[in-house]
Amino acid sequence: MTDGKCIFTESGLCLNKKIQRLTNILMSLFILVGLMLLVVSCHISNTDTTNGIHTDNTLASESLEIDSKKYFSIITLPDTQKFIHFKPEIFEKQIRWIINNRKKLNIKHVIHLGDIVDEDEDISMWETADKIFTLLDEAKIPYSIAIGNHDYSMGSGAPVSQYLVREKSNYSKYFPSTRFSRLSTNAMHSYDAYNNYQIINFGNAKLMVFALELYPRDRVLTWVKDILTEYSDYKAVIGTHAFLELDGTLIRDIEFIDENQQVIDGKPPSIIWEKISKFENIVGILCGHRINSQGFGSFIKSVQGPKGNRVVHLLSDYQNILDLNNPLVGSINILIFDNDLRILKVKTFSPITGNLSNSYSLIGDSESL
Ligand SMILES: [Zn+2]
Repeated sequence: MTDGKCIFTESGLCLNKKIQRLTNILMSLFILVGLMLLVVSCHISNTDTTNGIHTDNTLASESLEIDSKKYFSIITLPDTQKFIHFKPEIFEKQIRWIINNRKKLNIKHVIHLGDIVDEDEDISMWETADKIFTLLDEAKIPYSIAIGNHDYSMGSGAPVSQYLVREKSNYSKYFPSTRFSRLSTNAMHSYDAYNNYQIINFGNAKLMVFALELYPRDRVLTWVKDILTEYSDYKAVIGTHAFLELDGTLIRDIEFIDENQQVIDGKPPSIIWEKISKFENIVGILCGHRINSQGFGSFIKSVQGPKGNRVVHLLSDYQNILDLNNPLVGSINILIFDNDLRILKVKTFSPITGNLSNSYSLIGDSESL
C-alpha cells in the first residue's frame, strides 16, 4: 500500500524512511572510510623518508618554478671531469640550462664542487672548461669552485691516487680570484687562489657561500672560523670537494701524500666538522668526489649541530654516467632557500634528460615548492 510518500511494511513502518536511514548510515561509513584512508596516506607520505628526510613520490608533475619574492636557489654542479674529458656537451648543456632557467628558479649562485677536469696537466681540458664557464661569465651569473683533487697537479710518474701538489696547478691560471670578483654581482672575498666566499643578499638576509680547497689547511679553517664569528648574523653554506662517503658518513682519512711522501697539509672532514659545526649560522655543507659502481654518488641528510641548528650534508657526483639516455646523466642539485635562509628543498635534476630524480623537503611546509 502507498500513500504517495511512504511505502509501509507489513508491520506498519515506513519503508522509505528506513531506506533513507540506511543510506545515511552508508554515507557516514563511506565518509569515515575516506577520512581514514586520507589519514593513512598522509602518514605513509610523511614517513616515506631517506635518512629522516621526506621524499616526494610525485616528481613527474612537480614544477621547477618558484616565487622569486619568497625564494631563491643555488645550483650545485658536481664533478665534471669525465664530461670535460669525453663528452663536453654534457657540461655545456648543464650551463645553458642554468642560464635559461635563471629567472624561473631565481638562481643567485652556482657552485662547482670540484674535479672540473680529469687531468690537471692536460691543457686542452682546461681550455674546454674555460670556454664553457665563459658562458656563465657572459650571463653574469655568480659562481664559485671548490677545487678537487683532479684539479691539482698530481706530479708526473706518481700513482695518481697517492700524489697531490697543492701549489702547482693550472687551476689558478684559468680561474684566478679576479675572474670571480670581476663577473660577480655577489660581493666576493678570497683567502687565496683556492679559497673564497661570496655574499648573497636576499631581502635583509645575507648568505655566505664558501668554496674551500680540498681538505682545507688549518690556517684556512681558522680564516673561515674568524669570518663566521665576525658575521654571526649571516648564514653560511660551505662547498668542499671531499667530505662525505657514499653512505653519508664523513670521509675518515685524507687520501693524498705530497712529493716528500708526507701527508698533505690539510684536515680531514672530521676536523672540518668539529671546527665548523660549532657555528650556528652554518646551514649546509656540500661535496662531490665519491661514486658507486653505477657511476654516481648521491646522499643527503639533515644533521643537528652542537648548537641545535640543522645542517644539510649533501653529496652529489654523476661523473661516470656518460650515456645521454640515462635519466641521471649530468644531474645537478637545486637548493631552494626561503627569506630566513633555511634550505627548504633539494631537487636533483638532469638538464640533459629533463628527469627530476629526487626532491627532498627539509622543512615541513615546503611541499608545494
Ligand atoms: Zn675527486
